Amino acid sequence: MSSSTSYDLVFLGAGCASLSLLVRLANAGYLSDKKVLVYERSAKTLNDRTWCFWEKGEGYFEEVVHHTWDTVGFYSQEFSSDLSLAPYRYKMIRGIDFYRYCMGVLEKFPQVEFRYEEVSSLDSIKQLAPIVFSSLYDPADKDPKATHLLQHFKGRVVETAQDFFDPGKATLMDFRVDQGHGTTFAYVLPLTTRKALVEYTLFTDRLLTTEQYDQGLDEYMDRFLKIGSHKVIEEEFGVIPMTGQSFPFYRNGMYQIGTAGGQTKASSGYTFQFIQKRSDLIAQALLSGKSLQDLPTDAARFMFYDRVLLDVLAKGYWPGDRVFSRLFARNPVQRVFAFLDNESALGEELKLIASLPTLPFMRAAMGVIFN
Ligand SMILES: Cc1cc2nc3c(=O)[nH]c(=O)nc-3n(C[C@H](O)[C@H](O)[C@H](O)COP(=O)(O)OP(=O)(O)OC[C@H]3O[C@@H](n4cnc5c(N)ncnc54)[C@H](O)[C@@H]3O)c2cc1C
Repeated sequence: MSSSTSYDLVFLGAGCASLSLLVRLANAGYLSDKKVLVYERSAKTLNDRTWCFWEKGEGYFEEVVHHTWDTVGFYSQEFSSDLSLAPYRYKMIRGIDFYRYCMGVLEKFPQVEFRYEEVSSLDSIKQLAPIVFSSLYDPADKDPKATHLLQHFKGRVVETAQDFFDPGKATLMDFRVDQGHGTTFAYVLPLTTRKALVEYTLFTDRLLTTEQYDQGLDEYMDRFLKIGSHKVIEEEFGVIPMTGQSFPFYRNGMYQIGTAGGQTKASSGYTFQFIQKRSDLIAQALLSGKSLQDLPTDAARFMFYDRVLLDVLAKGYWPGDRVFSRLFARNPVQRVFAFLDNESALGEELKLIASLPTLPFMRAAMGVIFN
């Protein structure tokens, strides 16, 4: 610890990104001789979100995985199929299980101090430690030149009186719902034969009213799921930014992590696995005494693809339901997943690109290049 500062590390926010990194550092022994301060505005005692993601084999937080699926369904007017995911599995982690697990690891380290208060002034906080990680994302801090969409969704955990669901198969995307608001789909994550999380999701530039989300969910459950009588046990609502803007890792004298650090995939909203990969890299750098400034980043072409796809959706060059239908109809799901993970090889990406219509994507690509 430097003599002018009181802590070795400060974390702003104790959500997915901060806890993913802190737990890695704790488990690797890095925190044993460190003083750490964590600011968080709300005690993480609620199941405020559910994370889903695909993964090969076991991940760092395997212990708290709530459910996995080996098969997912994709449905649209153009293409409907069950997709076998091996070697991937689609996984679900409940927010509350993740928070409890992480806090359980961290409570063994009394030198990690949690301050439950709203962070408002950053200047004094930045003086507290030589390294400050911030996961505070400000949705108003927008680059006006970049394209912005919102992924917004309302979900219900529902329970039926009779066996209804197949807990071995999830619905990844169901685009048969009305597309009048823009790119809209539902997904279904069965947990038992009688219980599932059903979500109604949109990629558009503005939120709906509460009634509109409810109407979308009701319609989906009546017309396509045909669920019949059921109880609603829990509800969730969320908004994830989908943006082509750049998020520098080091900004305002702090290292930005999580959504604030650009870990939300612009074209899909998936974030959890990007946070895990980034947390691994940051932890390895700290453990080996390497500079955080030199962390490897994903190839720039992935950001370009994201921006193009985002522009196609945001500017309406081609309907989102058709874009995703083409991707899943003309490519193995494993290729699509690797691509969405920024882990595909160029040859595979060319095959994906070839499966999409040339004109709308060329138009978007030109816009991205000349912007
Ligand atoms: C409902 C929901 C569902 C999601 N589902 C998925 C999914 O299925 N798959 C996926 O990959 N991604 C998903 N995401 C996106 C992403 O994974 C999550 O948003 C993830 O939590 C981002 O991690 P983070 O650490 O950046 O932000 P957060 O987890 O939100 O952590 C930020 C923390 O900072 C605290 N904070 C914010 N401002 C202040 C302040 N001024 N002072 C003090 N504390 C503050 C917050 O309370 C919060 O605890 C979802 C997001 C939401 C909202």
